[in-house]
Amino acid sequence: MNTKYIFVTGGVVSSLGKGIISASIGKMLQARGYKVTIQKFDPYINIDPGTLNPYEHGECYVTADGMETDLDLGHYERFTGIHTTRHNSITTGRIYKTVIDRERKGDYLGKTIQVVPHITDEIKRRMLREDETNEQLDFVITEVGGTIGDIESAPFMEAIRQLRWQLGRDAVCVHLTYVPYLKAADELKTKPTQHSVKELQGMGIQPDILVLRTERHLDDAMRLKVASFCNVDLECVVQSEDMPSIYEVPVNMQHQGLDAAILRKIGIPVGETPAMKPWRDFLEKQRNATKEVHIGLVGKYDLQDAYKSIRESLNLAGIYNNVKAKIHFINSQEITPENVAERLSGMAGVVICPGFGQRGIEGKIIAAEYTRTHDIPTFGICLGMQMMVIEFARNVLGYKDANSAEMDDKTPHNVIDIMEEQKSITQMGGTMRLGAYDCELKEGSRAAEAYESEKLKVKSEKLIVSERHRHRYEFNNKYKEEYEAAGMKCVGINPAADLVEIVEIPEKKWYIGSQFHPEYSSTVLHPHPLFMSFIKTCLEN
Ligand code: GLN
Repeated sequence: MNTKYIFVTGGVVSSLGKGIISASIGKMLQARGYKVTIQKFDPYINIDPGTLNPYEHGECYVTADGMETDLDLGHYERFTGIHTTRHNSITTGRIYKTVIDRERKGDYLGKTIQVVPHITDEIKRRMLREDETNEQLDFVITEVGGTIGDIESAPFMEAIRQLRWQLGRDAVCVHLTYVPYLKAADELKTKPTQHSVKELQGMGIQPDILVLRTERHLDDAMRLKVASFCNVDLECVVQSEDMPSIYEVPVNMQHQGLDAAILRKIGIPVGETPAMKPWRDFLEKQRNATKEVHIGLVGKYDLQDAYKSIRESLNLAGIYNNVKAKIHFINSQEITPENVAERLSGMAGVVICPGFGQRGIEGKIIAAEYTRTHDIPTFGICLGMQMMVIEFARNVLGYKDANSAEMDDKTPHNVIDIMEEQKSITQMGGTMRLGAYDCELKEGSRAAEAYESEKLKVKSEKLIVSERHRHRYEFNNKYKEEYEAAGMKCVGINPAADLVEIVEIPEKKWYIGSQFHPEYSSTVLHPHPLFMSFIKTCLEN
C-alpha cells in the first residue's frame, strides 16, 4: 500500500484537543495493523518552542533525537508508543529558514522567492516526509496548529489544498470544530461550525470528516444538519463529547466509526473493528483506580500544561499501581523554612520539577531538605535533581555557599557546573545537551532495581538505559567522592562522557534525582519504571 495522508485542522476556537484527536486516529489505525506516524506543523516563527516560556506554550517536549518540540508530540508518543523525531515537529520558522538558506546557497538563482510556490513547496515536501525515504509508512497524520482563519496558517492550508488535489484519494481532511451549548436558550449551536467549514472551503479545502467537540450529546438531526450544510456524509460527522479522561477518546472515536470513515474515504476495506484489548484493559484499570495517593509537585509554573509529561507520567504510574495520583501543585516561590511543613503536609511523595533560572530555586532547596530529613519519597528531575545535590552540599557537606553555576557563577562550591562542551556556546536555541544518551546503572542501586528488565538493554554485561536530556549544567565530578562518602550515591553514569545522570540516597525510602527527563518516555502501555517505583513507594509510605 502506498502511503496515505491524513490532515487534521481545527476551527472556531483553539484548545479543542486536536492533538488528542490526531493521537487517537494514530492509535486506532495502529490497532488495525497499520504503520503510522504523526507530525505537527506549528505556524509560529520560532524555529522550535525551546526558547519559549512555558506560559506561552506549555511544556517543551524533547524527542529521542534531541529536537525541542510542541507538547502534542508527548500525546502522540504516549498514545501510540512511536518514537517521534525532528521530522515530526515543524514550524513556519524552520520552513522559512530552509528556504532562505537555500536561496543564499544559490539554489534558486535568477528566481524571485515567494510564499507560493517556494514556501508552500517546502511545506508540502515536509508533509510528504521526503527526507524520510527509508521509512515505510502506511499513514502520515499531519496536525496543523492554530485555528482556521489565522493569517499565519494560510500557507499550510494552501499546501494541504494542493496536496489534496495531487494525492486524490490518498489524502483525507479531518476538521475539528466546536458546537457550543447556550444555557439560556438550552440549545446547541452549529453555526460556528458552518462558518468554520465555509472558511476552509473558501481556501479550496472541502473537509471529508468533521469531528464536533461538544459538552452535550448531539442527536442525529443535529449531525444531519451539519452534514447537509457542510457537504459532508452523515457517517463522517463524528462527535467528541467531554470524557472523564483523554485516554477514553480513541475508544470513543472508534465506537463512532472515525477510523472506519477515514478508511472508507480512502477506499480501503474497513473489515472488523479491532478489539484494542491492551488499551481497554488500561481503561478498565483507570476506572477502578479510585483510591487516591497525594503527590506534591514543587515547581514555579502554576499552569497545568507546564509539567504535562510529568503529570501524565504520575497519572499513568498511579493507574498501574491501582491508585489515582492526586497531584497538588506547590509553588516553589512561596516555600519558606517556616511554611514548608504545612505546604508539604499530607503528601505521600514529592516531585521537584525541572526548570531554568533563579526564580523559585530556594523553595525547591528547602523542599528537598524537608523531604530528605523527614524521609518523604522524593523524585528530583533535571533542575530538581540539581537542587537535591545543592541542598545536600549545603546541609550535609557543610558548604553553605554551594550552588549551581547557572545561578551563581562565582560560588567557590559549584557542585553543579556548566558542562565543558557548553562553555563555548553563545547561541541559545537548540544548543543544550538534548535527546537520548546512555546511562549505566550501578548494580544493586535503588534506581537499577526500579528499571524493569525489559527496559534494560544489556551491553557487555552492563545495565544500560537510554534517557532523554535537556540541560546545560551537570553534577560536578570533583565532589563525587565527598558525596558518596556522606551517603548520596552517583548510581547512573553516562559511560561516554562520565557525567552523573542519577543520584540517590539509598538509606532513604526513595530519594532519587535524575539529570534526564524520564517523563518523556512514559507511555500509556509502558509507564516509566522510575515513576512506577516512586508511586509504589509513596503508596507504602
Ligand atoms: N537549568 C538546568 C540546566 O540547564 C536544568 C534544566 C532542566 O531542568 N531541564 O542544567
